Amino acid sequence: MMFDSGLSSSLGPPACEKDATALQFIEEMTMNCDAVQERVLGEILSRNAETEYLRRFGLGGATDRDSYKSKVPVVTYEDLQPDIQRVANGDRSPIFSSHPISEFLTSSGTSAGERKLMPTIHEEWDRRTKLYSLLMPVMNLYVPGLDKGKGLYFLFVKAETKTPSGLVARPVLTSYYKSEHFKTRPYDPYNVYTSPNEAILCADSFQSMYTQMLCGLLMREEVLRMGAVFASGLVRSIKFLQFNWRQLVDDIAAGTLNPKITDADIKKCMGKILKAPNPELAQFITKECEGENWEGIITRIWPNTKYLDVIVTGAMAQYIPTLDYFSGGLPLPCTMYASSECYFGLNLNPMSKPSDVSYTIMPNMGYFDVELNKEYELIISTYSGLCRYRVGDILRVTGFHNSAPQFKFLRRKNVLLSIDSDKTDEAELQKAIDNASALLTEFNTSVVEYTSYGDTKTIPGHYVIYWELMSKDPGNLPSHDVLDRCCLAMEESLNSVYRQGRVADNSIGPLEIRVVKNGTFEELMDYAISRGASINQYKVPRCVSFTPIMELLDSRVVSAHFSPCAPQWTPERRG
Ligand code: AMP
Repeated sequence: MMFDSGLSSSLGPPACEKDATALQFIEEMTMNCDAVQERVLGEILSRNAETEYLRRFGLGGATDRDSYKSKVPVVTYEDLQPDIQRVANGDRSPIFSSHPISEFLTSSGTSAGERKLMPTIHEEWDRRTKLYSLLMPVMNLYVPGLDKGKGLYFLFVKAETKTPSGLVARPVLTSYYKSEHFKTRPYDPYNVYTSPNEAILCADSFQSMYTQMLCGLLMREEVLRMGAVFASGLVRSIKFLQFNWRQLVDDIAAGTLNPKITDADIKKCMGKILKAPNPELAQFITKECEGENWEGIITRIWPNTKYLDVIVTGAMAQYIPTLDYFSGGLPLPCTMYASSECYFGLNLNPMSKPSDVSYTIMPNMGYFDVELNKEYELIISTYSGLCRYRVGDILRVTGFHNSAPQFKFLRRKNVLLSIDSDKTDEAELQKAIDNASALLTEFNTSVVEYTSYGDTKTIPGHYVIYWELMSKDPGNLPSHDVLDRCCLAMEESLNSVYRQGRVADNSIGPLEIRVVKNGTFEELMDYAISRGASINQYKVPRCVSFTPIMELLDSRVVSAHFSPCAPQWTPERRG
């Protein structure tokens, strides 16, 4: 049955009445983008007029765009950091927002090696929940029948800490899954997950993943869509199946739960799901998993899957070939674009190719400084009190839906290496090299050149660092063991999101140093010059991915070394 939204929607006929309301909302917001933006800015500025931050700029109560732009500066996290620290230390005066700060959201972007702390207010959940409620109505326009089955989504919570003020600090999705908005969400036939809340909310990543995979296998025929937040997470889940299918099969065959699952809430809820032995299913999964060939494993085990709901734009594009391999090329809709600071927008054409994905700004979420027809860095102002804040994402406006700008996510600013949500920049890599190469001084050896590569052919992916060494004492070369420890020393000095990925999430594999023959970087330069680079301006690229260059480097490797153990990481912030 089709429902008439009452508006001439350019989106398409809604699947049900609830969808009609959602699509109508999208149309209203995008048709009146400018007016909505003006209202949002007015609301932000009037409610926060008396905050310490806005008072500094002498707006004198003005809420119009011109005064705002001319008086309030564009800022980075580092500019705000001293004031954010005051909030973290317990200053409850209205510094950024007239509404009380409810918690800190910890971004995967870092500052001085630690996650950025984004102060947020409770009311933001209404806006974020509203944006979530628009996702399935858009999907339903393209994929019919999603109410006839379930979604196998691998969702996880991460560790949280408290700041000295007693406010919690945690990633935005951890906050969401633990909130009543998620836990007591009303039943929606278009949005039923195979994973029980108890599994999603278990902080132990093995137990959580194991249970979610087990439920996905038990309900395999009902699964219509599969997902994770980022592509890296879904790839990791398939790898988990590769490692653990025998134990999962044993549970299914016997109708019992693996003793490694000790979480009381999971045990209780799985008692109801895992009711009886199912030898046929166990046999089927064994048949599919025991072979060497995992091509198309997703559609073999979950034959009714219509798409993989993961973000594959930006750095995540590197996982597209792996997902295509596992799924036989199922569509990869990137449904939304969001961050700890603000949820920005939706993909209104989710079945488009990943390389064509554009997100449409939802103008009710915050105020956006948009620039047309060129690459620009997203600048936002939020109800929580960020004013003209640089998010660090580089976008290009590609068009409009009604009057709302649509943009491509181009890249994250200054990111050299990224495997999962980690982001390592050039300065961090340089510092890590410096720290590690200190271990070589007693051997009179130094690192003369280096470059890096994010290797996602291994699962999980890992950082590869190519080193060319110079030794003044050939009789006393650093041993294999010393070079292994150099890998660990590098990891120890990388930022906390990287180390959390290594330690708690297992989303990043051990760092590898590949020592290359002397003269390799000269050859690299010769190669670049042969392709038109200027000799005067040539700089060693600090990260490489171009196949001929990789081949050159790999053909010159004399030894490879891996971190012998995981680096230090605890949820507490360093320093
Ligand atoms: P966080 O603040 O840790 O939640 O990370 C938010 C960041 O993740 C954004 O600023 C983007 O860099 C990246 N991100 C989020 N959604 C997308 C998307 N759809 N495509 C590409 N990158 C994304």
